[in-house]
Amino acid sequence: MQVFDHPEFDHHQQIAFGCDEASGLRAIIAIHDTRRGPALGGLRIYPYASEDDALTDVLRLSRGMTYKSALANLPLGGGKAVILADPRHDKTPAMLRAMGRLVESLGGRYITAEDSGSGEEDMRLIRQETRHVSGLGQGGTSGDPSPFTAHGVFCALTSAVRHRLGRTDLQGLRVAIQGVGHVGAHLARELHAAGARLVLTDVDRDSLGVLVDELGAESVAPEVIFDAEVDVFAPCAMGAVLTAEVADRLRAKVVCGAANNQLANSEVAELLHKREILYTPDYVANAGGVIEVEAQRHAHYDRDAVMRHVERITVTVDEILSRAQAQDMSPAVVADQLARERLAG
Ligand code: NAD
Repeated sequence: MQVFDHPEFDHHQQIAFGCDEASGLRAIIAIHDTRRGPALGGLRIYPYASEDDALTDVLRLSRGMTYKSALANLPLGGGKAVILADPRHDKTPAMLRAMGRLVESLGGRYITAEDSGSGEEDMRLIRQETRHVSGLGQGGTSGDPSPFTAHGVFCALTSAVRHRLGRTDLQGLRVAIQGVGHVGAHLARELHAAGARLVLTDVDRDSLGVLVDELGAESVAPEVIFDAEVDVFAPCAMGAVLTAEVADRLRAKVVCGAANNQLANSEVAELLHKREILYTPDYVANAGGVIEVEAQRHAHYDRDAVMRHVERITVTVDEILSRAQAQDMSPAVVADQLARERLAG
């Protein structure tokens, strides 16, 4: 396994490999950049096929957090943690407490939070060993950042629609949402309230059915969501969904959703740009969650102030899309440039 020469290494400051034989913990913490503040990023628990897959995932996610926090104007750097285990079968309190000790050993340079495979209860166990944990729902907050993430995506989508379609309201706008879990369902309700017409899909047919009935939406099978005749495609399920084949199939003129790492590779951004499909950079649109998680770390949590911060995602999206248009470049490339400028101070 390559580490310093890994294709995703990209100037990481520190990578910690942790092992605890008694509990079976095998974990990696990647700290990409701490120039703007401590590296905050979630803990993913996943049965990776190989150690190399786990390292690739944690490095990509950690760099993504640096860029996300920089463009959300947060006093944070970027980091991420993974435990190589199946969260349904292998996760134990002893393993999580061992993870807490690994986080503690980094002295606050890395702050952990929930991610796929880890939840609030797991964070409470980690908290027994370290205070460098966020997202615990203290101070009357919910502990679930997904309504904030959804509202940020809604704001980003509104801005993208204005840039690409010249529309200032969403009345009658057709939006296809892939995945109506925590974020997708909130987003669907917000879009419905703004007058949008929805096409929804999910592999979980039961929760999809409930939401379709509630909102009077159309539902389609997961494999045909890309072909829906819509104005906007909102990926809110998994990463790497935007492949070259999907870029070719999409009927939408705007892509804006919550999923992390939507582009299967950087060439897809160029393909979308050539087809005049406006891609809203995922880590800009979905920053509402980290904005809320950061706010929870502080004693005086003010929900309205957090929402106002989330709504400033619109300003950042406007800046990226205006620059992308002026320079005839993909917004994905412009967002990375802007993030690097902010990091350079
Ligand atoms: P979730 O697990 O609650 O929802 C995902 C939904 O997608 C589920 O209902 C699942 O059944 C569905 N799904 C999975 N594969 C699918 C497929 N092939 N086709 C259609 N549906 C499929 O997750 P979430 O918390 O809503 O997060 C959604 C995405 O947004 C994830 O990529 C996550 O990393 C990202 N994200 C979430 C937050 C947050 O605050 N929760 C913040 C930033 C980014």
